[in-house]
Amino acid sequence: MARNAKYDVLVIGGGQAGIPLAYGLANAGRRMGLAERKHLGGSCVNFGCIPTKAAIASGRVAHLARRGAEFGLKISTVEVDFPAVLKRAKDIVIDLRRSLEQGFENSENPCLLRGHARVEGRDENGFRVRIGHGAVTAGEIVIDTGTRSLIPAIEGLDGIDFIDAENWIERTELPERLAIIGGGYIGLEMSQLYRRMGSAVTVIEESDQITGHEDKDIAEDLKRLLEAEAVEFRLNTQVRRADRKEKGIRLTLEGSDGTADIEASHLFVAAGRKPNTDDLGLETIGVKVSSKGIVEANKRLATNVEGVWVAGDIRGGPMFTHTSWDDYRILMSQMVGDGSRTTDRIVPYAIFTDPELGRVGMTEREARAAGKQIKIARFEMRKNGKARDLGDSEGFIKVIIDAETGCILGATVLATEAAELVHLYVELMNAGAPYTVMRDAIHIHPTLAEALQSAVSLFG
Ligand SMILES: Cc1cc2nc3c(=O)[nH]c(=O)nc-3n(C[C@H](O)[C@H](O)[C@H](O)COP(=O)(O)OP(=O)(O)OC[C@H]3O[C@@H](n4cnc5c(N)ncnc54)[C@H](O)[C@@H]3O)c2cc1C
Repeated sequence: MARNAKYDVLVIGGGQAGIPLAYGLANAGRRMGLAERKHLGGSCVNFGCIPTKAAIASGRVAHLARRGAEFGLKISTVEVDFPAVLKRAKDIVIDLRRSLEQGFENSENPCLLRGHARVEGRDENGFRVRIGHGAVTAGEIVIDTGTRSLIPAIEGLDGIDFIDAENWIERTELPERLAIIGGGYIGLEMSQLYRRMGSAVTVIEESDQITGHEDKDIAEDLKRLLEAEAVEFRLNTQVRRADRKEKGIRLTLEGSDGTADIEASHLFVAAGRKPNTDDLGLETIGVKVSSKGIVEANKRLATNVEGVWVAGDIRGGPMFTHTSWDDYRILMSQMVGDGSRTTDRIVPYAIFTDPELGRVGMTEREARAAGKQIKIARFEMRKNGKARDLGDSEGFIKVIIDAETGCILGATVLATEAAELVHLYVELMNAGAPYTVMRDAIHIHPTLAEALQSAVSLFG
């Protein structure tokens, strides 16, 4: 890195917003620097979305192979080679990472600056930022530093070599008995993955339902489906202590019915995410950061300090790759465009269990709390021909519409391929179109998409 290099804009963090933004602003004529302390691609590419879904795909193949007889097939044994499952996932990571790195090779604009970036203050040239052993100045800064696993304050946990969202891909030993702290989306996806690999799995969740944000009927059905694969749940339960034993770990749990000890060979901590803002020097330029480490920003993604912008998970709100990527579009609009794009947006998301949970818009609880006049339709997937053909007839679709306008306020698809299917509702919502548009369309038979239409047809 050239010492005292000057950039128009420095992006800190090569994640899902940072990389496209560095290219986009360079194409718009800005002199761009991109600081990255580890691997390009951030959480999604290196240990999050991409490799987890690759491993989950292996889990699904194992699951289907075990169900061979249902399809008239004789598959006598299914043997899991866990290191090979992880290697397949890692190969995909390395491939994607390499192609991101190739893009920056010999590129002067945007220029990739390797190292941990920390803001040191400002001078007449702009913001001063130390990056590794060098230093640069930038007229504007975009912070896209992402999150890391939140490690809860549990006595004894620091003496345990636990698995987490960052290191799971390196842990090639298949746990015999895995305890998972956290019943959010990472904990649930991992619970089913390890179970399908052959581990006995217990999920410990402190609240009274898994996937705390979702409606109870959905959380309960998802839990039932995972329990059918012998994933165990301890709800309303907190881990008070973790002790390393000669073989494995003992966890002391405290639940509504008292305390109990459970033993596990391995522990996975999936208790939430912590913003990477604690070692950024933002206090040197007066950027407001909440007590939880979220950078405060308005819907234009501007912070309280002029010339400092934010993108991705650390801006609070929905923490997904697609929202981080959309932040890049917002920042392009705000920094070099007409400023019309903001965080006023419809955000879908999914939990990649099998069946998947595809979601968009309000939950029933939120719609009622907002005082909306609503109608709800629920369609069971077992009534859909394609789902039965595929042997994937578990789950249901729940759609909430505004009783007056007929527009969709929210939808949940708990079904195979739900993360794909839910997009049809997403587009209706973006178009502001009533449910009748889908009801009156023709959907191909036999498809899972017919089930989406069947659900809205229940409104009449
Ligand atoms: C296990 C797991 C599974 C997930 N699955 C999904 C999924 O299926 N779908 C989905 O949409 N989302 C998923 N997510 C969430 C998704 O990965 C994140 O929402 C997304 O990556 C956030 O992007 P970002 O741009 O905010 O940050 P990141 O992608 O995390 O990028 C931040 C980058 O900043 C770098 N950095 C941090 N501090 C500094 C510094 N001071 N100096 C230089 N560089 C720095 C980091 O090294 C990192 O590369 C998953 C996350 C995890 C952990």
